[in-house]
Amino acid sequence: MKAFVKQAIQILEQNGYKITNPRKQVLELIQKASSPLSPYDLQKMLSKEEALNPVTIYRVLELFVKLHLVHKVARGGFVKCSIPTEEGCHHFVVCNSCGTTKEFAEDQGCHFHLPTNIAKDFTVTSHTYEIAGICKKCKK
Ligand SMILES: [Zn+2]
Ligand SMILES: [Zn+2]
Ligand SMILES: [Zn+2]
Repeated sequence: MKAFVKQAIQILEQNGYKITNPRKQVLELIQKASSPLSPYDLQKMLSKEEALNPVTIYRVLELFVKLHLVHKVARGGFVKCSIPTEEGCHHFVVCNSCGTTKEFAEDQGCHFHLPTNIAKDFTVTSHTYEIAGICKKCKK
């Protein structure tokens, strides 16, 4: 079993969640992916015998997001947290061409701040932060 799946199972158990088949299936798939996947992408990767419906997949993903195992990124995709031991805010750079995602932590605190006129009427509960561009491979 890959380290990510092993660790995720541990975290699920520590938080009192059962290791159901859908949860295990989604973990296995998302651990292999290098770019963000939507519930529909994940569904397509499953064989007939393993079939899950997108609603089930979405619920599993939402739980993983809550437990910080997975991040939700822009465009409806989900990607595993690749730096779970790093403190601070986790952000991403995403290649516009191939979709490859690289995660980094901002340990000095998030650089993302709301202007005061917005912040006075709005309480932030979560955020995603992606920087789009072109990766080294695609630039060639
Ligand atoms: Zn992360
Ligand atoms: Zn690329
Ligand atoms: Zn942040």
